[in-house]
Amino acid sequence: MKKIVKRIFKITLLTFLTTILTIGIIILFPQQLFAKKISYKKFTVYSNDNVDDNIKTVLDNALILVRRSELYDPNYSYNIILCNNSFYNKIDDKLLGTGPTARATSNNVIIKVKIDPKGNLAFPTFHKACEVNLTELLAHEMTHCLQANKYGMIKFNPFKHPEFWKLEGYPEYISRQAQRSKKGYSLTKDIDRYVNLERKATDIWILSDEGGCEAPDYYYKGRLMIEYLIDIRHFSYSKILNDTISENTLYQEMIQWKDSNKEAKN
Ligand SMILES: [Zn+2]
Repeated sequence: MKKIVKRIFKITLLTFLTTILTIGIIILFPQQLFAKKISYKKFTVYSNDNVDDNIKTVLDNALILVRRSELYDPNYSYNIILCNNSFYNKIDDKLLGTGPTARATSNNVIIKVKIDPKGNLAFPTFHKACEVNLTELLAHEMTHCLQANKYGMIKFNPFKHPEFWKLEGYPEYISRQAQRSKKGYSLTKDIDRYVNLERKATDIWILSDEGGCEAPDYYYKGRLMIEYLIDIRHFSYSKILNDTISENTLYQEMIQWKDSNKEAKN
């Protein structure tokens, strides 16, 4: 009887470990689940559907944005996994939760929603249906890849990472460069816009851009705080990660800077 119990225990343990290992391999190396593959410069694009050739222009433009990051590594290669309506997406939803439009794991950029490379758009559905700029979405996720590449997956993974404003604010800062070079843009005006949106918001979801998408407030707020620290205080991202100032204290400091800057201009 004891022998049978031992045997059942061993089989159960083995099955459990094999399942965990298989899931781990699928999450880290999802490429094998996709039928189509395109290699282009530092990118390999995986998909089950035919991929519009315009994806190459989008990838080039995303790389131009990411190249301006201090984390940029010219030897780094990215897997772009287009997994809308795929078996992999179902596994990812079950394990890591439904919700994000995209995520980055190791050097894999996982795009979970429908995309239109020609129109340079992606179509999030979680929270509300909207449109986002595909180049910026890719650059955001590629910056997450570079965070893990530079600081290690032990410090940057879905379960352990810096505070959200530092984690998400920096990829937002890198991916939304075009917005900063638009005529009439200023950080002080953008802080005012955020303060107004936050005042009106009834929960943490804040309108992030003209495509109608909303994101948790730390994306917008984090991007403003990172922009303030890098462009005004001349911090590097590494210095920001090591800095121990609290989110609230820094936010108040940024608001004071904004107010005094506006007074000085008047
Ligand atoms: Zn992100």
